[in-house]
Amino acid sequence: MNSTMTLYRGTFLDTPSDPFSGGTLRTEQDGALLVRDGVIRARGGYADLRREHPEEELVDLTGGFVLPGFVDTHVHFPQVRVIGGLGMPLLDWLDQCALPEEARLADPAYAEGVATDFVSGLVGAGTTTALVFGSHFAPAVDTVFAEAARVGLRITSGLVVSDRLIREDLFTDPDRAREESLALASRWHGVGRARYAVTPRFSLSCSERLLEACGDVLRTVPGAMLTSHVNENTREIVTVEELCGCDYVTSYDRHGLVGPSTVLAHNVHPTDPELALLASRGAAVAHCPSSNAALGSGLFPLARHRAHGVRVAMGSDVGAGTGFSLLKEGLQAYVAQQLLADQGHPLTPAHLLHLATRAGAEALGLGDEVGDFTIGRRFDAQWIKPAPNTPLDVGLAHATDPTDALARTFALGNPADVHSVWIEGDLVRETKPALVG
Ligand SMILES: [Zn+2]
Repeated sequence: MNSTMTLYRGTFLDTPSDPFSGGTLRTEQDGALLVRDGVIRARGGYADLRREHPEEELVDLTGGFVLPGFVDTHVHFPQVRVIGGLGMPLLDWLDQCALPEEARLADPAYAEGVATDFVSGLVGAGTTTALVFGSHFAPAVDTVFAEAARVGLRITSGLVVSDRLIREDLFTDPDRAREESLALASRWHGVGRARYAVTPRFSLSCSERLLEACGDVLRTVPGAMLTSHVNENTREIVTVEELCGCDYVTSYDRHGLVGPSTVLAHNVHPTDPELALLASRGAAVAHCPSSNAALGSGLFPLARHRAHGVRVAMGSDVGAGTGFSLLKEGLQAYVAQQLLADQGHPLTPAHLLHLATRAGAEALGLGDEVGDFTIGRRFDAQWIKPAPNTPLDVGLAHATDPTDALARTFALGNPADVHSVWIEGDLVRETKPALVG
């Protein structure tokens, strides 16, 4: 951790107050953040802060602008190498594309390479915090925790468990799941920036006894999260209802798996009682619009989630999603709501930034630590600075105000436009900013 004081100069955009409840984009043009021990200690106009702190190291981030690091609330570590398997609905894609690759992670050496690719993909896209779907193999889960710790990425992850319907070499049993999960949690939960997430793959592939074991682990590890999938694809939903004899959300809830530390991905086809149940439990939904479009799962009913008071954040769902960038996910979320016409929820650039940062931090229980540039937060940040003469560079040069610049960034931006990334004040992406003074 960088224990000296550093003054970062630039244009800072964030969304501390929720645009879904009347909040707006906060902008600090030619502003500055004073950071010590990775924490934001002061913020304001550059000229004023520089006068108060004339001796501190200055990092000049003028040109482009600075956003909070993205928070990806649903992304699969083992799938980085199979992104782009287009042309299949969910269950075929799992059988033919994702699960054969997940089986390869039985080899810890292979898993190590995947972990390197995965963490690099996230950080390169400006993501500084992620709720990560782990592997079915405990040694592979160790590799992703280890690689995230090496780089500094803030992750919550865990052992993925299944004991029916998918390929058998990914199966566990309730006792083994309990034992391996607790061992992983004892090694990683609360160590550095890592936390543990109990991770049943989905109730389609988990027996009642296995979900019970998940509940045991969740109650045994204080502060652990629970993550899984829900209501993604209509064929999947019918099968879950036949197997479980209840709706999809209830299949988790009856084992004590739905609460304020729960993040369920997708929820493209929820019933109203399911939305009411999620809201009453304080659970969050990870919205993964690229994945929903690529697998033909459907258009996310954001307005119904909002109407029921269900918390929603953003996920890339790599590898069913088409890349790590939450800029692209923001654009896809916007497009999906446009396609829903009067059933859709209109989204401004501030909504998209909030979904990709602040909402994710809150969904992961990290709202006091990250998600915006309020004093007291960790300095998790990304400098958006496109190369000269690229369409985004041209767009930013002609943007009328910060909101317009942000809209252009969601429309045109990609990981190549993320010049530098900091986590808790440490520069974790290699491209060094200019140091002045
Ligand atoms: Zn997923």
